[in-house]
Amino acid sequence: MIGVHELEKGTYEACRHLCESGCGIYADRPTSCRTFECQWLRGVLEFDGTIDTSLRPDSCGVMFDYQPESAFGEVFTAWEVEPGASAGGHARDIIEGLAETFLVIVMTCGPEGGNGDGDYRLVGPPPLVMQASDVMWSRGRGATQPLRDIMSGPARW
Ligand code: SF4
Repeated sequence: MIGVHELEKGTYEACRHLCESGCGIYADRPTSCRTFECQWLRGVLEFDGTIDTSLRPDSCGVMFDYQPESAFGEVFTAWEVEPGASAGGHARDIIEGLAETFLVIVMTCGPEGGNGDGDYRLVGPPPLVMQASDVMWSRGRGATQPLRDIMSGPARW
């Protein structure tokens, strides 16, 4: 679902190296793929010090990413793995909790899931949401491209 700039793979585009056993170029995969860890893998989304397996992306339907530095401070991105998953269950609870403090970019996939078109919405403190919306739409580009531009972290969109 996440774009890989080394492969010119866009958001929610299937990777051409994906094969039945997983990554077909695992030993030589790009740096973006080597270094990426979602928030569940990092253990950041554990509840009460225990690993809640219902928060795994394949369980809750959403994968969470984190950018420590951006024009809008710390920013979380919630990537739907399953269509509509960000609107319910644990995923929605997490998003709502994060949005009380941080800008959260909710990436929604189309009805085709991981291979469908992606879109996004912004949630968070109203001043941050308005500021981010202004920046994105003032650039007049596609839905997801401006997100890469405003982030100062590693480019993996
Ligand atoms: S890990 Fe492999 S299959 Fe996955 S995006 Fe990277 S190159 Fe493609």
